[in-house]
Amino acid sequence: MTGTGTDQEHWARVKDRLRAEVGDDIFQSWFARMELERIDNGVAHLSVPTRFLKSWIASHYTDRVVACWQAEHAEVQKIDVSVRSAVIRTAPPKVKAPEAIDAREPRSRMDLGDLRAAFAPVSTGHDALGGSPLDLRLTFDSFVVGRSNTLAHAAAKQVAVARRGEPVMFNPLYVHAGVGLGKTHLLQAITWAGNNGSDRKVLYLTAEKFMYGFVSALRTQTALAFKEALRGIDVLVIDDLQFLQGKSTQAEFCHTLNALIDAGRQVVIAADRPPTDLESLDDRVRSRLAGGLVVEMGPLGEELRLEILKFRVAAARQYHPGFDVPAPVLAFIAKSVTHNGRDLEGAVNRLLAHNKLTGQPVTMEMAEREVRDLIRPQEPKRVKIEDIQRIVARQYNVSRADLLSSRRTANVVRPRQVAMYLAKTLTLRSLPEIGRRFGGRDHTTVLHAVRKIEGLVGNDTMLADEIEVLKRQLQE
Ligand code: ADP
Ligand code: MG
Repeated sequence: MTGTGTDQEHWARVKDRLRAEVGDDIFQSWFARMELERIDNGVAHLSVPTRFLKSWIASHYTDRVVACWQAEHAEVQKIDVSVRSAVIRTAPPKVKAPEAIDAREPRSRMDLGDLRAAFAPVSTGHDALGGSPLDLRLTFDSFVVGRSNTLAHAAAKQVAVARRGEPVMFNPLYVHAGVGLGKTHLLQAITWAGNNGSDRKVLYLTAEKFMYGFVSALRTQTALAFKEALRGIDVLVIDDLQFLQGKSTQAEFCHTLNALIDAGRQVVIAADRPPTDLESLDDRVRSRLAGGLVVEMGPLGEELRLEILKFRVAAARQYHPGFDVPAPVLAFIAKSVTHNGRDLEGAVNRLLAHNKLTGQPVTMEMAEREVRDLIRPQEPKRVKIEDIQRIVARQYNVSRADLLSSRRTANVVRPRQVAMYLAKTLTLRSLPEIGRRFGGRDHTTVLHAVRKIEGLVGNDTMLADEIEVLKRQLQE
């Protein structure tokens, strides 16, 4: 759909280069969702999902991105970044028309307008929304509880039913999980619950919106009003904290966090990793974040997936009474679409679309065809560098400290190279990052180790076997 095959290959290499230059964290925050649309007349047309990303990249990274293009594919002399009209899950306030259930608004359409309006605390109902857009469907009623999210759900419920002035039980509540496992759903459920029928003011903000608000407030010199607005709320809910970037924004976030917590207000945070892994935040913020309740939500188990599917189908049937999905089809999807909640939603939407457009009932055959590309192999386990170091050290009978040390004896050098090689192949960490984690080594040292091992495994079957065994241990 985008660009030609070779253009996309160039783009993949440009991204690798960018990642190596700016580091994983920054790359993840700003470039992970950037896509190449096409190249024409020496211009690479790139797109990102939000206006915020677009303006940030344009003002901070244009030259760098162009330089990376030049290095990989000199034909590209300029870049043009646009906002793709991505789908998002903001249903219009009154869901009446049958189509409205699937109607989504591009997130990029969220305009900030004047600061006061944008950050006025949400008080009641959907009309007074001041924070980031909320999805009407993401409530506690539609949140299915299973083994992987029981604790997070209970904590969220607890936060939602607390009353103004009551002592706060855990602060902040910090929920982390991979993509599509229900973080946003849970946070928005808290926000809806808080704003319906309680006297508390709950504000839901994505970290991007927090940054955008702050940056533009600084620009218009109304930072004080912004701080006041933020501090005048009872519950601050911040989603996708991993995207919080920039020194002044972080300092402000830290102040806000401290001010709210010290005043006994509730803070709820979601991110894709635990506080200790938010490498771009400073230590004090991290420890403050870790000082409340930190809960992880695991992958959705098959039973939970089935329940979510049933719920989705039932919701769709409210507007499309003729839509019916036989139990075996539901079971098949629950079993095979393992990736995350978003794919489950996508699967139901496709069956519905197909059913509506062709008038044919949903059958197993149709389901198999429609969801084929959503069926993915089991998500590989997220491997941590510490685990690699621990397991490699054990296997070769050296200590982890030896691996990180500067010792150069053969019995340490080889295991260290193997560990670095595994870190490069099994994690998404960049070479500089891996170097840092191995006793502050330079990225060229890591690169050398990776090449060395790659070269050896071709001929040395014993080493190849050893590495296979290590990989298996790490991935199981
Ligand atoms: P995240 O923010 O963690 O990436 P979302 O909250 O956006 O994930 O969830 C992705 C999709 O999966 C949403 O449609 C959401 O409603 C659905 N989902 C995830 N977990 C659950 C759950 N426990 N119950 C019902 N729906 C869920
Ligand atoms: Mg989310």
